[in-house]
Amino acid sequence: SIVVTGATGALGRLVVEELLGRVPADRLAVVVRNKEKAADLAERGIDVRIADYDDAESLAGAFRAGDRVLLISGSEVGRRVPQHTAVIEAAKSAGVAQLAYTGILGGPEADFELAAEHKVTEQAILDSGLPYTFLRNGWYHENYTGNLGTVLEHGAVVGSAGAGRVASAARADYAAAAAVVLTGEGHLGRVYELSGDTAWSLAEYAAEVAAQAGRAVEYTEVPAEAHLSILTGAGLPEGFAALLVDVDAAISRGRLAATGGDLSRLIGRPTTPVSEAIAGALA
Ligand code: NDP
Repeated sequence: SIVVTGATGALGRLVVEELLGRVPADRLAVVVRNKEKAADLAERGIDVRIADYDDAESLAGAFRAGDRVLLISGSEVGRRVPQHTAVIEAAKSAGVAQLAYTGILGGPEADFELAAEHKVTEQAILDSGLPYTFLRNGWYHENYTGNLGTVLEHGAVVGSAGAGRVASAARADYAAAAAVVLTGEGHLGRVYELSGDTAWSLAEYAAEVAAQAGRAVEYTEVPAEAHLSILTGAGLPEGFAALLVDVDAAISRGRLAATGGDLSRLIGRPTTPVSEAIAGALA
């Protein structure tokens, strides 16, 4: 089977839709921790396997010999190394034919905190000897457009990324790439640096929001400490806010700006422009 972990998450759901467009449902399986959340997938004929990244015993039944597996990285930052390692071990014991993993743009070159667990995970996959495909995902448009209400309320995009550029793409673009490597041939041992075709600065992003919304919106650059207190003031936990400020510093160093074109080549079309994601979020 083609197996998707994290299939009840935002990216995972899009990957499953992409796969359903390419192969029959009875060739698909999902590995999820919450059975109720996947009820619609079971109804559509997909094999729903229940396992938690935190529970090695549950993972022992998650994979079969010959499966082509997409490990979607977990969302519990700080816990992901043991979690991913448990998935890799289960995949190894089962003898899967492919382990694709959603890492971070730049791989070992990504020198910011959020990237650390991805690097360790990629190394664990290499050490396992499993046939792998690394999908090093850049930033999602949705990381920004998910927040448009607040931006319009304040007339400001606030950040500490300076003039750094972001080559973001839609989650759906990354999902399509995952479906391509899971259903096609020639992707074993390959590393894809996935990102949008175009990189933009936060000032350009603010200008595009302003133009589309017909309102004044500007990019407001703040020092890292002020950025941190704005994010915690908006209700983000301190640790997560610090990770986001660290990402902005990485953006200012150009770490999420690469436009190498792997994503559009894999999916056979241009990536979704950020202007389209803004329009969708405003609609
Ligand atoms: P989501 O948070 O929507 O999805 C995460 C998925 O992982 C969910 O399905 C969740 O299950 C599953 N999961 C988390 N912990 C466990 C666990 N212990 N056992 C089993 N399953 C688990 O994130 P997205 O889909 O948007 O993104 C996918 C991943 O990409 C994220 O988890 C994160 O690693 C990374 N990411 C990348 C970003 C980028 O811009 N490139 C931005 C944000 C995240 P459940 O549905 O039950 O909650």
